[in-house]
Amino acid sequence: MTDTEKLADQLLAQERRALARAITLVESGRADHREAAQALLDRVAGHGKQAIRIGLSGTPGVGKSTFIEAFGMMLTGMGLRVAVLAVDPSSARSGGSILGDKTRMERLSREPGAFIRPSPSQTHLGGVARRTREAVTLCEAAGFNVVLIETVGVGQSETVVSEMCDLFLLLLAPAGGDELQGVKRGIMEIADLILVNKADGELKSAATRTCSDYSGALRLLRKRPQDPEGFPKAMMVSALQDEGLKAAWDEMNALIDWRRENGHFDARREAQARYWFGEEVKRGLMAQLETPEARALMEEGAEDVAAGRTVPSVAAQSVLDRLSVSKD
Ligand code: GDP
Repeated sequence: MTDTEKLADQLLAQERRALARAITLVESGRADHREAAQALLDRVAGHGKQAIRIGLSGTPGVGKSTFIEAFGMMLTGMGLRVAVLAVDPSSARSGGSILGDKTRMERLSREPGAFIRPSPSQTHLGGVARRTREAVTLCEAAGFNVVLIETVGVGQSETVVSEMCDLFLLLLAPAGGDELQGVKRGIMEIADLILVNKADGELKSAATRTCSDYSGALRLLRKRPQDPEGFPKAMMVSALQDEGLKAAWDEMNALIDWRRENGHFDARREAQARYWFGEEVKRGLMAQLETPEARALMEEGAEDVAAGRTVPSVAAQSVLDRLSVSKD
């Protein structure tokens, strides 16, 4: 039995340490590790249970880690196994991960039924996206029931995360006035539940106002085919005081049950798999342009079109022809 096969078996036997090792493998940039990672993924694909994949976004300070800890503790208390992954495209820039940090979720990280993995430092959102998708597959193979994918609202990270989730949660803080918090329309459109956090103490009335503002704004959005009546919806929670979390979980389940019954759940997963497959093919093709030969050809073509010796389409075709010839 090869090491990869052994790792796959340990993963399927739900060993947490095997999961950590497997994720390290998919995060590695080394060519031999990549090969092993692909063999591993291929071996475990389709063997695990289907987890509920939940994306969670919110600006720093809104209470994401407090929420994940409280929500995760509630789920593990119900006997569910919960994995937390992070997509943090800014971590490479800031030099350290600001998401998924274990010290931020101390109680949850000690739970036997929980697994927390911080975002790797990688410059490209593309690289983080692939690693996270593959980590989700590994978590499912390892029998986790819920996979939470946390992200901050940086660049395209929410869109990327929503393309690998069944459900997307947006966490907001109560606003001071009665204005919407400049939340981008795009994220409102991908959110399934807006959770107005910190609905406690002095912030409670502001939270109530914010929640009703967002409920109003959501009603103005075009109804999506994958939603039953009343979704997407805004709710109040207090992660700190553990309030509203069960109600939020019930809403998530109601939505998922409805989508399963109406075929939307599987359809979305299928569409996501097709999408990522296409992205991987494109990524592979783009990588072929990164060789010295390809660069030289590109440069030559660029010179030709700049000098007016030929037109872009003809020069491009010539490069593509020569690239596929030079491959075999
Ligand atoms: P993150 O940056 O989004 O992960 O936010 P944190 O979870 O670190 O929380 C930021 C701050 O908000 C901390 O001081 C938390 O104690 C506080 N906080 C989080 N949730 C709540 C809540 O439900 N109510 C109140 N009052 N404060 C909260």
